[in-house]
Amino acid sequence: MANPSLLILAGDGIGPEVMEQVKRVIGWFGEKRDLAFDVSEDLVGGAAYDAHGTPLHDDTMARALEVDAVLLGAVGGPKYDDLDFSVKPERGLLRLRKEMDLFSNLRPAQCFDALADFSSLKKDVVAGLDIMIVRELTSGVYFGEPRGIFEEGNERVGINTQRYTEGEIDRVARSAFELARRRSGKVCSMEKANVMESGILWREVVQKVRDTDYPDIELSHMYADNGAMQLVRAPKQFDVILTDNLFGDILSDCAAMLTGSLGMLPSASLGKPTEKGPPRALYEPVHGSAPDIAGQGKANPIACILSFAMALRYSFDQGDEAARLEAAIETVLAEGARTADLMGAEGGTPISTAEMGDAILGALDASL
Ligand code: NAD
Repeated sequence: MANPSLLILAGDGIGPEVMEQVKRVIGWFGEKRDLAFDVSEDLVGGAAYDAHGTPLHDDTMARALEVDAVLLGAVGGPKYDDLDFSVKPERGLLRLRKEMDLFSNLRPAQCFDALADFSSLKKDVVAGLDIMIVRELTSGVYFGEPRGIFEEGNERVGINTQRYTEGEIDRVARSAFELARRRSGKVCSMEKANVMESGILWREVVQKVRDTDYPDIELSHMYADNGAMQLVRAPKQFDVILTDNLFGDILSDCAAMLTGSLGMLPSASLGKPTEKGPPRALYEPVHGSAPDIAGQGKANPIACILSFAMALRYSFDQGDEAARLEAAIETVLAEGARTADLMGAEGGTPISTAEMGDAILGALDASL
């Protein structure tokens, strides 16, 4: 059987630096766990613009649609700030998301014990936290029509429309339930059914999908404003949170910050299941290209490495190996390995991007 295929798009700024460490980790799994990938690499963002005059070449797009998963670093940087909107680096990423039809965005908020002091919340509230926000990504108020700024009488009015079809709710609900089956089997769906019709429909459809096809899942519903409050009050009550595009945007940033540094946060964006089985998928760290530290060997590669761990779990059905990689990261952090972004008040000497990679590979070796 052919190896699973992976397209690496390292992108700009610290993207290639952190991806270098991911490539070492991928190599380790091929060598030590008999888990080889058919890896190809290409350009995206500013790097693609420099080479081809477009932030995503058509051939790269075609390849992204063929492979089992895409792993992306980061795009953008000051060099490209004055480019026309149509060729800005971010357009490459948006095109990938759109043409791969990635409607389900997964953002875990996981607090490694060694970093619990980084949270703005009390240590006991966040230590051991492991929740996943599933955000609908391609519809809702950011896309609904009518939208715009219109003249109305003698003043202007700004309009956006929250719009969800049953089909759009159905597919993202399934994505959350499938995910929950690999975790604790618990989903909390958040909307504002008390004041929004789209929220009423959301609640109905989510409940129906659960009752029809996922009776094993424990489903609860919560108003999104209460959800925000509960997230900072007692986040460990949640496992999978399912929500729409707008609420998900806010709730996932809020949940992410429970855990501390941007350099630690992975994400996945999933589409419909393909004929091959797993859905189309793009994995990427939440952070950007960090031009302020690019080229200095200071970037924390963990967010990107954890994105690969998500790929192992959700695209390649290798949950045990994903857990092995996450445990290796937990170990190096517990042993005190810190890139500059993770230096707390206690001080110490930060290690480089490559040294963090060395430490994680060492912990992986020790796990055998
Ligand atoms: P950023 O995430 O690049 O950086 C914000 C801050 O966090 C910076 O101080 C940076 O040094 C630090 N940081 C980020 N990742 C880090 C890591 N792995 N290790 C250590 N420190 C890290 O956000 P920004 O500065 O607002 O944006 C910079 C560029 O990235 C812009 O061009 C922006 O458009 C782009 N961007 C891209 C993406 C993406 O590719 N998905 C996301 C956000 C921003």
